[in-house]
Amino acid sequence: MRISRVSLFAVLLLLAVSLASSDSVLEPFLKCLDKHSEPSYPVSAVVYTPTNSSYPSVLQAYIRNLRFNESFTPKPKLIITALHKSHIQAAIICAKRYGLQMKIRSGGHDYEGVSYWSDSPFFILDMFNFRSINVSIEDETAWVQVGATLGEVYYRIAEKSNTHGFPAGVCPTVGVGGHFSGGGYGNMMRKYGLSVDNIVDAQIIDVNGRLLNRETMGEDLFWAITGGGGVSFGVVFAYKIKLVAVPATVTVFNVARTHAAKRNRYCLSVATCC
Ligand SMILES: Cc1cc2nc3c(=O)[nH]c(=O)nc-3n(C[C@H](O)[C@H](O)[C@H](O)COP(=O)(O)OP(=O)(O)OC[C@H]3O[C@@H](n4cnc5c(N)ncnc54)[C@H](O)[C@@H]3O)c2cc1C
Repeated sequence: MRISRVSLFAVLLLLAVSLASSDSVLEPFLKCLDKHSEPSYPVSAVVYTPTNSSYPSVLQAYIRNLRFNESFTPKPKLIITALHKSHIQAAIICAKRYGLQMKIRSGGHDYEGVSYWSDSPFFILDMFNFRSINVSIEDETAWVQVGATLGEVYYRIAEKSNTHGFPAGVCPTVGVGGHFSGGGYGNMMRKYGLSVDNIVDAQIIDVNGRLLNRETMGEDLFWAITGGGGVSFGVVFAYKIKLVAVPATVTVFNVARTHAAKRNRYCLSVATCC
């Protein structure tokens, strides 16, 4: 009985110490963010801590797998909905200084929710405000910021041309940040390959807070963030994509078949089916 009381006390003490130490990080962390952000874009306006009434809705806005939206899912110490590059740079510098894990979230479609939860103390760097898409039909390219969704990319291209497209995923709400850094397969894969086969430049903010493009980051890092997953290498800010030719009119149809034999007969009569 005595031993169990002692061990209970030890557990409570450890819990109190760890809570105190993790909370004591928050204040200097916020000061650090402030110090390293552009003064004309005060970072305090885009920081959400659990005491902020908007914290739950900001957190949940890009949780796309509800398995990781439970009361017991570990929650971030804060969320930064970055609006300016300096917010990203500050987040990187301060995360290193105070040992907080940084989770980068673009579209939030990671299957395991790794962009918005962790076992270690962490915060979320939310990229959804960076969603501009600049299409140049003359160059047949577009600069796409990582917070844009695939649907937005397709829409902006189609606004300017009905004979250009981009080979990427089928789900319109998937984010550019995770999708392009991880590969990106979709309906045009057989003709044009993966998304990353059609990426010609990128901008990344590296571990030292430097903004780099393809030339300044070098081919190794460029290769890594076009298929190797972005998060291990820095915060990808934007990708430059090469548009591909598509027919002006496309016919899309679904065929529902449950019986294997019937499906096989159908496939024999449609050259592109299998
Ligand atoms: C419903 C659904 C449909 C899908 N359909 C397809 C499909 O058709 N084709 C296909 O190829 N894939 C598909 N996927 C998989 C999807 O492409 C990947 O899960 C992708 O990583 C999601 O990107 P995101 O930005 O939405 O996710 P997030 O959860 O925001 O990010 C995913 C990962 O990338 C990291 N990351 C995000 N942004 C950045 C950044 N700016 N810099 C560095 N790292 C970053 C995150 O930290 C995380 O590790 C689908 C997923 C879902 C849930």
